[in-house]
Amino acid sequence: MNYNRPYFRLGLTGYPLDHSLSPALHTRALEETGLRGEYRLYPAVPGLTGEGSLGDLIGRLKSGKLHGLNVTIPHKQTVIPMLDSLSPSAQAIGAVNTIYMENGYTVGENTDAGGFWVDLQRHMKPLISSPTEKPPIVMVLGAGGAARAVLYALGQAGWKVILAARRKEQALELAHQFSGTVEGIIPLPFRSQDLHSIEGQRLGMVVNTTPLGMFPDEEFCPWPEGIRLPERTLVYDLVYRPATTRLMQLARSQGLKAFNGLGMLVEQAALAFEIWTGESQSREGMWRALSIGVA
Ligand code: NAP
Repeated sequence: MNYNRPYFRLGLTGYPLDHSLSPALHTRALEETGLRGEYRLYPAVPGLTGEGSLGDLIGRLKSGKLHGLNVTIPHKQTVIPMLDSLSPSAQAIGAVNTIYMENGYTVGENTDAGGFWVDLQRHMKPLISSPTEKPPIVMVLGAGGAARAVLYALGQAGWKVILAARRKEQALELAHQFSGTVEGIIPLPFRSQDLHSIEGQRLGMVVNTTPLGMFPDEEFCPWPEGIRLPERTLVYDLVYRPATTRLMQLARSQGLKAFNGLGMLVEQAALAFEIWTGESQSREGMWRALSIGVA
């Protein structure tokens, strides 16, 4: 334990926070780096004012009572006007999941995009045989906050996306915001004829950013019934509870590779921890905190 270093008061706000895995990840990171500190949950009911509200928590950051805060549903976008500045990626994504202090000012960052991309790299080898090969097209299911981070990460790498969303206006907004990345939009659920827009292109990956299939509604699947996933498609489901979602089951039943979002969760946490403390945390330690080996 290094007693010359500050005591790091870290935490997560959002609502509800009952099943969050973040305290386990960050507590392990503090232990393994030998830093003194704590990571607590700060549930903030939407619309609440006064003590315990989102505004109150930002005030606690500014006064030094808190050193770093993660932000989750439903505050990732509503917190933005309360902050002094945004990182370029948080600005481009339009959502914040990590807040830190710089020279007395609050800065909003988004580590979901980096977390998704780093984890995807681990799984991507079967997708691209040569680094010079043109990347196949990606279908992103859902057009909420996590979809923005995914679109940003894919766009930074030059990948092109077909966006499937149940609300057309939401999809159009994202298509406008990420115009260099989104090549088309289709409804969700879609019919097989809706897939004509990607004919002639290889659908290399399907990324689920909807909560469909998440505990306790594990029986739901965002991929429409009766439509086969295309061959050689990798499936990445941001949902991680249950560890094997219905979408992943479907993919594996067709012999395809499928991964859940636990790796993204670990990576976005490690990136946030590094921003707050300056310490790089071993991913193995974080996986162990979840009692799971590196997937
Ligand atoms: P969000 O902002 O609420 O967006 C969810 C999106 O899914 C919206 O476009 C929503 O449409 C759509 N959707 C919801 N129910 C649907 C349904 N029945 N049919 C079709 N579309 C539906 O939530 P989010 O922050 O993006 O999070 C989405 C999921 O990703 C959650 O399960 C979350 O836990 C997960 N996530 C995982 C990680 C990770 O590290 N692995 C990180 C971030 C998020 P409407 O707007 O019309 O409701």
